[in-house]
Amino acid sequence: MGKKSLERKVINMEKIKCACGETAQKITTEMELFGGDVTVRNIEAYYCPKCKEEVMTTEQIQKVKDNVKSLVPSYEKFSVRKKIAQLGNSVTVPLPKEVADFLGIHKGDEVRITVKDKHRLIVESA
Ligand SMILES: [Zn+2]
Repeated sequence: MGKKSLERKVINMEKIKCACGETAQKITTEMELFGGDVTVRNIEAYYCPKCKEEVMTTEQIQKVKDNVKSLVPSYEKFSVRKKIAQLGNSVTVPLPKEVADFLGIHKGDEVRITVKDKHRLIVESA
């Protein structure tokens, strides 16, 4: 899993010992999953200042797994195949209603379209 920590905060003075022997402090952190498409926030972990790494107990890892499991079905629901339609000189991609609702976009709203590569297009709501 390509995970990256984004923001970490010390939440209390609770501490554990890291494998290196240094004391790791309890923090909350964020993780980006699916190449940054999904961000999981408020993950409990411990941070070792010596290793500069987040250390997680098996309990904490299980919590993240449960969290991701609850995110994955909705994420996969939004991977849909659609036929390109023609509109004047442009071609359009119909967005399913649930995708538009999820993004909070409506008819007339502006979105930013970025061509990522030959196969990928990013549509961003404001
Ligand atoms: Zn350490």
